[in-house]
Amino acid sequence: MDTLRVNFGGFIPISTVDWPGRAVCTVFFRGCPVRCSYCQNATILNGEDFRDTEEILALIKESSLLISGVVFSGGEPTMQQEPLISLARAARAIQLGTAIHTNGVFPAAVSALLTHGLIDRVALDIKARWERYDNLLKYPCVDAVRETLALCREAKSKGELPEFEVVVTLFRGYEDEVPVIAKEAGDVDLVLQQGVVGTVPPLSEGEMRQIGDRLGRMIKIRTREGGEVVYEGSRDRWAARER
Ligand code: SF4
Repeated sequence: MDTLRVNFGGFIPISTVDWPGRAVCTVFFRGCPVRCSYCQNATILNGEDFRDTEEILALIKESSLLISGVVFSGGEPTMQQEPLISLARAARAIQLGTAIHTNGVFPAAVSALLTHGLIDRVALDIKARWERYDNLLKYPCVDAVRETLALCREAKSKGELPEFEVVVTLFRGYEDEVPVIAKEAGDVDLVLQQGVVGTVPPLSEGEMRQIGDRLGRMIKIRTREGGEVVYEGSRDRWAARER
């Protein structure tokens, strides 16, 4: 492995929530050009803590007997393309699966991971309907996110990306955006993730199930209370829609 420098944000030796169905370790990359008001990792959006990739690989190896994969998260992992690719390649070399949690702002990095066959799972955040995107984020990235979505959809359809999901962090008051986002995302796994910010009461799992009923498709629902559940919807309601 070539030794590169990575702006490091942290490490979780074992996680059972970052890649549903697997025990993994999670590497956090420091830095993100976007500033979501609800960011759970706001402390690593800025600053510098450069480490050799060899040091991070040593951490991964320490966990390797207990895990089957590595999740690269952040911050935004694809903002640091070279160390990300180097670590993904090194993880693969020790028979670990690889995943990214990404905001989709750097499609070239996602493309490189896919081209080199170094990624097993992508969880892509879509934060709003396209027309509202750049204004909401105060960062011009809608075209980049759309490109990342298209890349991942194509790779998934060709069997080059085993797992791909679009994650919508959903806040009360924005429920009506979900059908639009779902249509824009297309026929991919869709996750509704409970958004928590300020004093706004978060949507409950039940309320998100009702949104799922409006979509007429399977969704995954993630809440603090219930973890992740797969919701296949009210069959009666879907049947009624089809009649
Ligand atoms: S894109 Fe992700 S890491 Fe960046 S500010 Fe938003 S939630 Fe935080």
